[in-house]
Amino acid sequence: MGNSLGDHRLNRRALLATGAALFGSGAAAKIISTPGVADAAVPTSAWKHLAGELDGKLLRPGDDGFARAASTFDPRRDGKRPVAIVRAASAGDVAAAFAFCRSHGVHPRPRSGGHSYVGASTGNGVLVIDVRPMHGVHYHAEDHKVTVGAGAVLGDLHQTLDRHGRTVPTGTCPTVGAAGLTLGGGIGTESRLYGLTADALTGGTLVSPSGHIHRFGRHTDADLFWGLRGGGGGNFGVVTSLTYATSPALPGTIFRLSWGHHDNHRVLMGWQERLAHLPRHSWANLHLDTAGGVVSPSITGVCWDRGASREIKAMVDAIGREPLSRRTYAESHAGAMGWFAGGANGRTRQSWYAGSDVVGHAITSARTKDIIAAVRKWNGSGAAAAIFDPLGGAVSDLGAADTAFRWRHANATVQWYVGLSSTSRANVGRATDWVAGCHHAIGRSSVGGYLNYLEPGRKLSDYSGDNYDRLLSLNTKYDPHGILNSRYSLPG
Ligand SMILES: Cc1cc2nc3c(=O)[nH]c(=O)nc-3n(C[C@H](O)[C@H](O)[C@H](O)COP(=O)(O)OP(=O)(O)OC[C@H]3O[C@@H](n4cnc5c(N)ncnc54)[C@H](O)[C@@H]3O)c2cc1C
Repeated sequence: MGNSLGDHRLNRRALLATGAALFGSGAAAKIISTPGVADAAVPTSAWKHLAGELDGKLLRPGDDGFARAASTFDPRRDGKRPVAIVRAASAGDVAAAFAFCRSHGVHPRPRSGGHSYVGASTGNGVLVIDVRPMHGVHYHAEDHKVTVGAGAVLGDLHQTLDRHGRTVPTGTCPTVGAAGLTLGGGIGTESRLYGLTADALTGGTLVSPSGHIHRFGRHTDADLFWGLRGGGGGNFGVVTSLTYATSPALPGTIFRLSWGHHDNHRVLMGWQERLAHLPRHSWANLHLDTAGGVVSPSITGVCWDRGASREIKAMVDAIGREPLSRRTYAESHAGAMGWFAGGANGRTRQSWYAGSDVVGHAITSARTKDIIAAVRKWNGSGAAAAIFDPLGGAVSDLGAADTAFRWRHANATVQWYVGLSSTSRANVGRATDWVAGCHHAIGRSSVGGYLNYLEPGRKLSDYSGDNYDRLLSLNTKYDPHGILNSRYSLPG
């Protein structure tokens, strides 16, 4: 049987599956893109055979639990119709699923937490390789590392680490998958203190589309290790386990400052100025929230361990105007993570449309005005916001080519985010136009986009800059037959 940490050993059946799969890969499989065709083309006996190979479960449309397993975090994707879902309980299950895909010309879609902005972990006519059954979290007290199955979500990870007074710098949403987050980089409130989630990664296990198991790390499959730290999900194979170095979990003082709509310009300029001097134990993001043609600025920050009153004063001084409201919350590490996770709200499924930019050059005063004007233009149903998250600190300790995450020396990322209260075509169209207007307004201050905030219609090379060509060659090396190809994975 597999275990919940994504056991790297292949069982006998999976070894046989690997052999069959290698044979299948030479047979130039035809790719099937619609569920009807795939259902007709794959004989029932082949599905039965696959089900018999698995430690986990094969779910087909109509099976109990299929609809639930097929749904992702965004209800907008509920209409997608995969041909089947392999609930993978071991690396051997992943190898068997790949063998099946190669033999029958079905595209696989790796899936972990299901939070992809563009629904990249599902699709019509695809076979979803769902690693969620491998969700174990095991802390190693002897070297302070933690190993997770690739199906673990951030909430699982922090719950275990908190018991040991340790942390891994991650994003804030407890239901985001550790795998998807890490593969794209992983930014959050501890990034300036401890780096990206990907920077904490020390190794793991990946099953490539040929069925081979790679134990990657600094000294083994080092090229793969490079690409998996910020090069994006679904490009080289399916990761089944991840091991991270951990750091001390510090208490944090959270602060939230908000100003009136007349102060948008000075808040964005002042926040930007303060970023250049922010100590690494401080993190502070800027929201420009908009509704009904009014844009309101606020800053939410946290100082890990120390320095909150000094930081609030320095931020307010840089902005040059007292906030209308100012709140602080002194929290344990777990309390601070819970605060940013947003309680029950953070776990509620929601629909959104979003895009991103990476702020590589200071935003000038004139451009700040353009951005505020573009944000104000939101006229659809739902709330929209520009959310600027600082980089810097420990993120910039590595060079731009040291890992696949290209934006080591950028100032910040910005997310142009619409929480869709209606998913009608017209409303999604308004959101698309609004995001396009924001991209236009930020202009040359942007040097690219953030891979974990993919958006439809954007070139994949925008997300990796100079690292893109190296990622492409890695993709050719580990997936030479293009088994994993999709609109949102390499080569794009
Ligand atoms: C509510 C919300 C909050 C977020 N907050 C943050 C944040 O604070 N910081 C941040 O950096 N990002 C954040 N994100 C973005 C998030 O990091 C990305 O969407 C991430 O890719 C999600 O990973 P997942 O495993 O949940 O998603 P999935 O949809 O399962 O996967 C995402 C991509 O990775 C691939 N993939 C999944 N599992 C594997 C695997 N085992 N092996 C290989 N490829 C795999 C998928 O095929 C897909 O292409 C947030 C997203 C949402 C929706």
